Amino acid sequence: MSFNVMECAQCGHRVYPARLWCPACGHDGAHAVALEEAELLAWTQVPGKAGESGSVFATVNALPRGPLLVVRLPEAPRQGAGQRLRLLAHTWQGVTLPWALAPSDGEGVPGKH
Ligand SMILES: [Zn+2]
Repeated sequence: MSFNVMECAQCGHRVYPARLWCPACGHDGAHAVALEEAELLAWTQVPGKAGESGSVFATVNALPRGPLLVVRLPEAPRQGAGQRLRLLAHTWQGVTLPWALAPSDGEGVPGKH
């Protein structure tokens, strides 16, 4: 599982979504890089309509050096800020968006090595 962001060919600055020019250096060349992991910064749950479970949205920092992404999660995170999440691309109605999943039990839990 991974999610693609764009990395500037000149300075290495990473952005999502793609830009015509690098916001850091102005260069117009970039290539996709696949990122697998992110750190949870904050999250919120938006209530659904009656009978629906709602949606969980989170701000994460892709590791090891960004960018910040707004992702959706299938369920509320168990640990909160600092939790490691796995990034994945989820295509819905023809649009590919960043999602994140909590790793399986014990993996990525702070203090457990
Ligand atoms: Zn750049």
